Amino acid sequence: MRKPFIAANWKMHKTIPETQEFLSAFIPLVKDVKDVTIAIAPPFTSLAMVAERLKNTNILLVAQNIFYEEKGAYTGEISPLMLVDIGCKYVIAGHSERRQFFYETDDIINKKIKAAQKSGLGVIFCIGESLAERDTGKTLAILQRELEGGLDGINPEDIVIAYEPVWAIGTGKTATPAQAQEAHAHIREKLRSLYGNKADELCILYGGSVTPENVDSLMECIDLDGALVGGASLKADSFSRIVKFRKEL
Ligand code: PEP
Repeated sequence: MRKPFIAANWKMHKTIPETQEFLSAFIPLVKDVKDVTIAIAPPFTSLAMVAERLKNTNILLVAQNIFYEEKGAYTGEISPLMLVDIGCKYVIAGHSERRQFFYETDDIINKKIKAAQKSGLGVIFCIGESLAERDTGKTLAILQRELEGGLDGINPEDIVIAYEPVWAIGTGKTATPAQAQEAHAHIREKLRSLYGNKADELCILYGGSVTPENVDSLMECIDLDGALVGGASLKADSFSRIVKFRKEL
């Protein structure tokens, strides 16, 4: 049985006072949720404050990025040890915004995942195709390449996969449940070829314009185990409704 996993990716949003306000509203709204893993990835500047506020709650702290060295002359970077030190339990790797704007390759992402695992951090590993790749029938091949590259030499312990079609991120265009299920089933199949039966224990999240309005139908998909949520995670009422999705299956 996979426990649903719902994570907020705040990207470059929210000052410390705005974050305080969000947490004051959000923590009580979800305090009784026991059957869902809830996670929040704030910007680095508020990690320390959020770590403090999340103590003794049912919400995990996630970092949005990581560097693969433990320490050294890497101006501006944050090491896995620092993330563990501050209380992070997971880190996001392979987000399409980092692939697109910061030129992160499968190889760099693989190094980041390895470094995270070595320090005991779980990883939310994002993969997904662009619109041009979908329109030219390359979706499954892209997912396969990103999975093989990112997971090379990685054990599946504490890996959460996030399928995030690039054309659906921040655009208001969501994949239909059928499109999402097709991709998730393909990812699960690929994970089976890498990890055997362990693949059935791994959570595969969907990300791309998830909202309170579409989360229930997406969560009906058999291979869809949760969501990575950007825009709709910025408001306490909307993110708490997503955390409290209704699944009929
Ligand atoms: C994301 O940032 O990973 C994301 C899916 O964003 P949004 O929900 O805004 O599309």
